[in-house]
Amino acid sequence: MHFEESDEERMFREAVREFAQRYVAPAWQDYDKNHEIPRSLIKKMAEMQLWAPTVSEEYGGAGISMTMACIAAEELARADLSIALPVMYLVEASWALIFDMYGTHEAKSEILPKVCSGDLFFGIATTEPTGGSDLVNSTKTTIKPTDNGYVINGEKVYISGVAESEKYGGVYWTLAKSDPKGDHKAFNAFILPLNMGNGLTPGITTTLFEDMGRMGVSTGGFNIENVEIPKHYLIGEEGRGFYMAMEGFSAARCIIAATCLGAAEGAFDIGVDYVKQRKQFGRPLAAFEGIMFEGVDSWMALQADKLLTYKAAWMWDQHYIHKNPNISKLDIAQATAAAKYKAPHDALDIITRAMTWHGAFGYTKECPLEASYRGVRSYTVGAEGGAHIQKLVIGREIFGKECLPYRQDKQL
Ligand SMILES: Cc1cc2nc3c(=O)[nH]c(=O)nc-3n(C[C@H](O)[C@H](O)[C@H](O)COP(=O)(O)OP(=O)(O)OC[C@H]3O[C@@H](n4cnc5c(N)ncnc54)[C@H](O)[C@@H]3O)c2cc1C
Repeated sequence: MHFEESDEERMFREAVREFAQRYVAPAWQDYDKNHEIPRSLIKKMAEMQLWAPTVSEEYGGAGISMTMACIAAEELARADLSIALPVMYLVEASWALIFDMYGTHEAKSEILPKVCSGDLFFGIATTEPTGGSDLVNSTKTTIKPTDNGYVINGEKVYISGVAESEKYGGVYWTLAKSDPKGDHKAFNAFILPLNMGNGLTPGITTTLFEDMGRMGVSTGGFNIENVEIPKHYLIGEEGRGFYMAMEGFSAARCIIAATCLGAAEGAFDIGVDYVKQRKQFGRPLAAFEGIMFEGVDSWMALQADKLLTYKAAWMWDQHYIHKNPNISKLDIAQATAAAKYKAPHDALDIITRAMTWHGAFGYTKECPLEASYRGVRSYTVGAEGGAHIQKLVIGREIFGKECLPYRQDKQL
């Protein structure tokens, strides 16, 4: 057991930090106001092989590990406190990876190089108006076989990247049921081409929501009316969609934890600098225990979150890259849910303390911390699974599936 980054990881972190501090840190407050991340920034990241970098080299990615993907997310969020750019980055880094793992060669060759070059957004669309937590009962979108492929009907809501996809091109890793009354074995996963670069696919209409935070990336929804997809857009085998989605959530939750960790570290550094120079009652605020001990609480939370996050990433890499038989997908689900639960909640506490240390200035829009608070809040509310759902995943592994509250109709 050791807690040191390898030389490769350390050098990667330094390179991403240099990039993020040079190009992202000076830009994010503008794109928080303008509600759009500049394409030039995404293209620059793609040139650095930082866009969907988890995708294998064969399809245009850099094939980096989950640990490296988390390092990049942490450094990007340390520079972009609104976390908009890291959110876009993480959605692609996690869901394009699951597509790379299970998609057909034909679909991957067509789609992934464009994703890695920053020309096509790669999103995730599971949530529906009837709910996002209980996918088995809430999913009403259907997928039916045709002579040449499948036809899809339904609606997805609260989906990241809809405006960007409509404007520049985007596809979604999507779930639908072959039998609306079926259980988790009735799910198929497939690529939904929202806009392949030449306008919205016929049968798709979009809506947009105005979020409270991470304004550089949009949240929207779309109706899907008789949209036909070719056979090779199916991801993995029929009936396996739900299971692959759970793997995708594990990947995304791990990188979300790293993102919230990075934002919290950025906020913490700003707060510490401020209380060391701001004087009240004749001494720096940091010299009062009331402030210093809060800072100590923040620091301890950061250490704990770092350990949880990178242990979860290490477990992913052990399972998927090193084929370690002692770490199962369920172990990873539990570890990533714990990191995804803790890091955003701790980040909110850390950001809130740092805002309070700034007094009135902390409550203004000139202070970068309020944007961070708004952005990180998305990950305690719901995105990639609400807080309660993380606890259900963790509890399932502690107490057993039979104790899951939603299974208690079965005899214990
Ligand atoms: C900013 C943002 C971006 C998003 N981007 C995407 C995206 O790109 N793609 C996508 O598919 N979805 C996306 N989502 C949706 C997200 O996945 C859902 O919000 C989430 O799954 C919860 O679903 P829901 O909002 O329908 O809430 P519901 O499922 O209706 O749940 C409401 C509340 O009840 C809680 N709850 C549910 N079940 C239980 C239970 N058994 N016990 C206790 N509490 C419970 C939930 O945690 C939640 O707090 C995004 C959400 C946000 C906020």
